[in-house]
Amino acid sequence: MKQAINTYLQKNGFEALRLKAVFFDMDGVLFDSMPNHAKTWAVVAREYGLDLSPEEVYMNEGRTGESTINMLTQRQWGRAATAREVEELYARKCALFNQCEEAPPMPGAAEVLRCVKQAGLGIYVVTGSGQLSLLNRLQTNYPGYFSPDRLISSRDVRHGKPHPEPYLMALDRAGLQPWEALVVENAPLGVRSAVAARIFTVAVNTGPLQPQTLTDEGAHLVFPSMKALAEQWEQLLAALEAQ
Ligand code: CA
Repeated sequence: MKQAINTYLQKNGFEALRLKAVFFDMDGVLFDSMPNHAKTWAVVAREYGLDLSPEEVYMNEGRTGESTINMLTQRQWGRAATAREVEELYARKCALFNQCEEAPPMPGAAEVLRCVKQAGLGIYVVTGSGQLSLLNRLQTNYPGYFSPDRLISSRDVRHGKPHPEPYLMALDRAGLQPWEALVVENAPLGVRSAVAARIFTVAVNTGPLQPQTLTDEGAHLVFPSMKALAEQWEQLLAALEAQ
């Protein structure tokens, strides 16, 4: 851990990490919602004659709905989707998603949140999702941790992940410098976004991808699950405070 922190500081030219807040991604971090996303994207793609493998959903997780749709139409139709197509496909995707059985809270996430709150750190959510059903569920499943003004969703940004804008906006909203925050992400593109915003990035590999896909994007630490992060939280906090 110590080495990961030092590498991060050196690479970014920062003196020390002075942690004040943790920025959580939502899908695949706070909720085990990725299987539902993979399933519903596959149905919509099939309905419109677009190719999309389940693995691709995980590799591209974090993109906005529009960006995902454009990626598929560019490849298959050789053009970006029209505004109307984007609206139609994304509405269909959301409708199907809302019909799915509710995604359960991610095992271990409540423990991590408790640790973070106990440490007196701010809690923010930075998500590519604009789905109100999930946003509302934050407060239901994790009462006392989240407030709407500490939530950055696809509705707030012009450029979704992997662009750094969502995490830069979170820093701005929190009034923090990059060395005062920590990101918890599960997806390669989410990691890329956080690393580009120069924030210390902890990846939790809660999906079917190889951990190397997260390291390759620059994740400073990779844990196999939120449970594992909860178990090692004290150790991590001690390492962060030691330098
Ligand atoms: Ca995610």
